[in-house]
Amino acid sequence: MTAMLPTFQDVRAAADRIAGHAHRTPVLTSRTLNDELGAEVFFKCENFQRMGAFKFRGAFNALSRFDADQRRRGVIAFSSGNHAQAIAVAARLLGMPATILMPQDAPVAKVAATQGYGGKVVFFDRYRDDREALGRSLAEREGLTLIPPFDHPDIIAGQGTAALELFEETGPLDALFVPLGGGGLLAGTALTTRAQAPSCRLYGVEPEAGNDGQQSFRTGQIVRIATPKTIADGAQTGYLGALNFPIIRDQVNDILTVTDTQLVDCMRFAASRMKLVIEPTGCLGFAGARAMGRQLEGQRVGVIVSGGNVDLADLARYFALT
Ligand SMILES: *Cc1c(COP(=O)(O)O)cnc(C)c1O
Repeated sequence: MTAMLPTFQDVRAAADRIAGHAHRTPVLTSRTLNDELGAEVFFKCENFQRMGAFKFRGAFNALSRFDADQRRRGVIAFSSGNHAQAIAVAARLLGMPATILMPQDAPVAKVAATQGYGGKVVFFDRYRDDREALGRSLAEREGLTLIPPFDHPDIIAGQGTAALELFEETGPLDALFVPLGGGGLLAGTALTTRAQAPSCRLYGVEPEAGNDGQQSFRTGQIVRIATPKTIADGAQTGYLGALNFPIIRDQVNDILTVTDTQLVDCMRFAASRMKLVIEPTGCLGFAGARAMGRQLEGQRVGVIVSGGNVDLADLARYFALT
């Protein structure tokens, strides 16, 4: 059984729900990058979103649809970081308790931030434990509503609002590059793109070490892989969601991959030329566009910068390595 797939109407409804709660993030450009690619590139800067990533959009949209009983009992979420913070912030804003399952090796900044936002953190081992089974049993025992990080219609619809704002600002684009983990952001962006700029080429970009999305896209069915080792911790997902996949399969043009080295190069460019702090996962779209190089010549190109939550010590280490 699959739930109903979300549509662009759901993205519109989500945009109304999050208005006044989510930030309308800026769209920035870099003349240096435009010269490098011979293109006009527009960065939708979700690193400036509340809690530092686009995930607030989906989380707030999902939680604002809870009924009174669900609100009273609270929400539970499992996440490698940003979804956890997003749920914690949205729950606090809506006055409900939040329990968050996080991997033991999640970045310190993300754990601290989640706790700082009032979330109750429960740890698991990301290489050994089945976090979904763990989340489901906790949810059942305590009557909590589980909100998964990407495989949920309200999450997908909420994530699609970032591209909606981008198109409102830029008008139609020739190509749009989007980070890909489990596919919440990409599926939501696809709904928006097909409604707002039907001929825009839409690319999902994932880490080369974890190209399950590319394999799934090419073979026409969801391919599962072991948790990939990459600095893009927000894209360490092993499979696309059941709701996300059909939308991505039918509405996305291709899935590209980039290496950790390419991500670091883009993080360095963003920091030094644009004064932007972008986390590794947040640079996937940028790195995908940059890898396409002069193929983008003469085009208007969108890049979703999905988040900026990176420990500064880690950032310094990445910059020192390459
Ligand atoms: C979660 C996340 C992603 C991946 O999003 P999905 O909806 O899982 O594909 C990309 N970038 C950042 C910063 C994230 O937090």
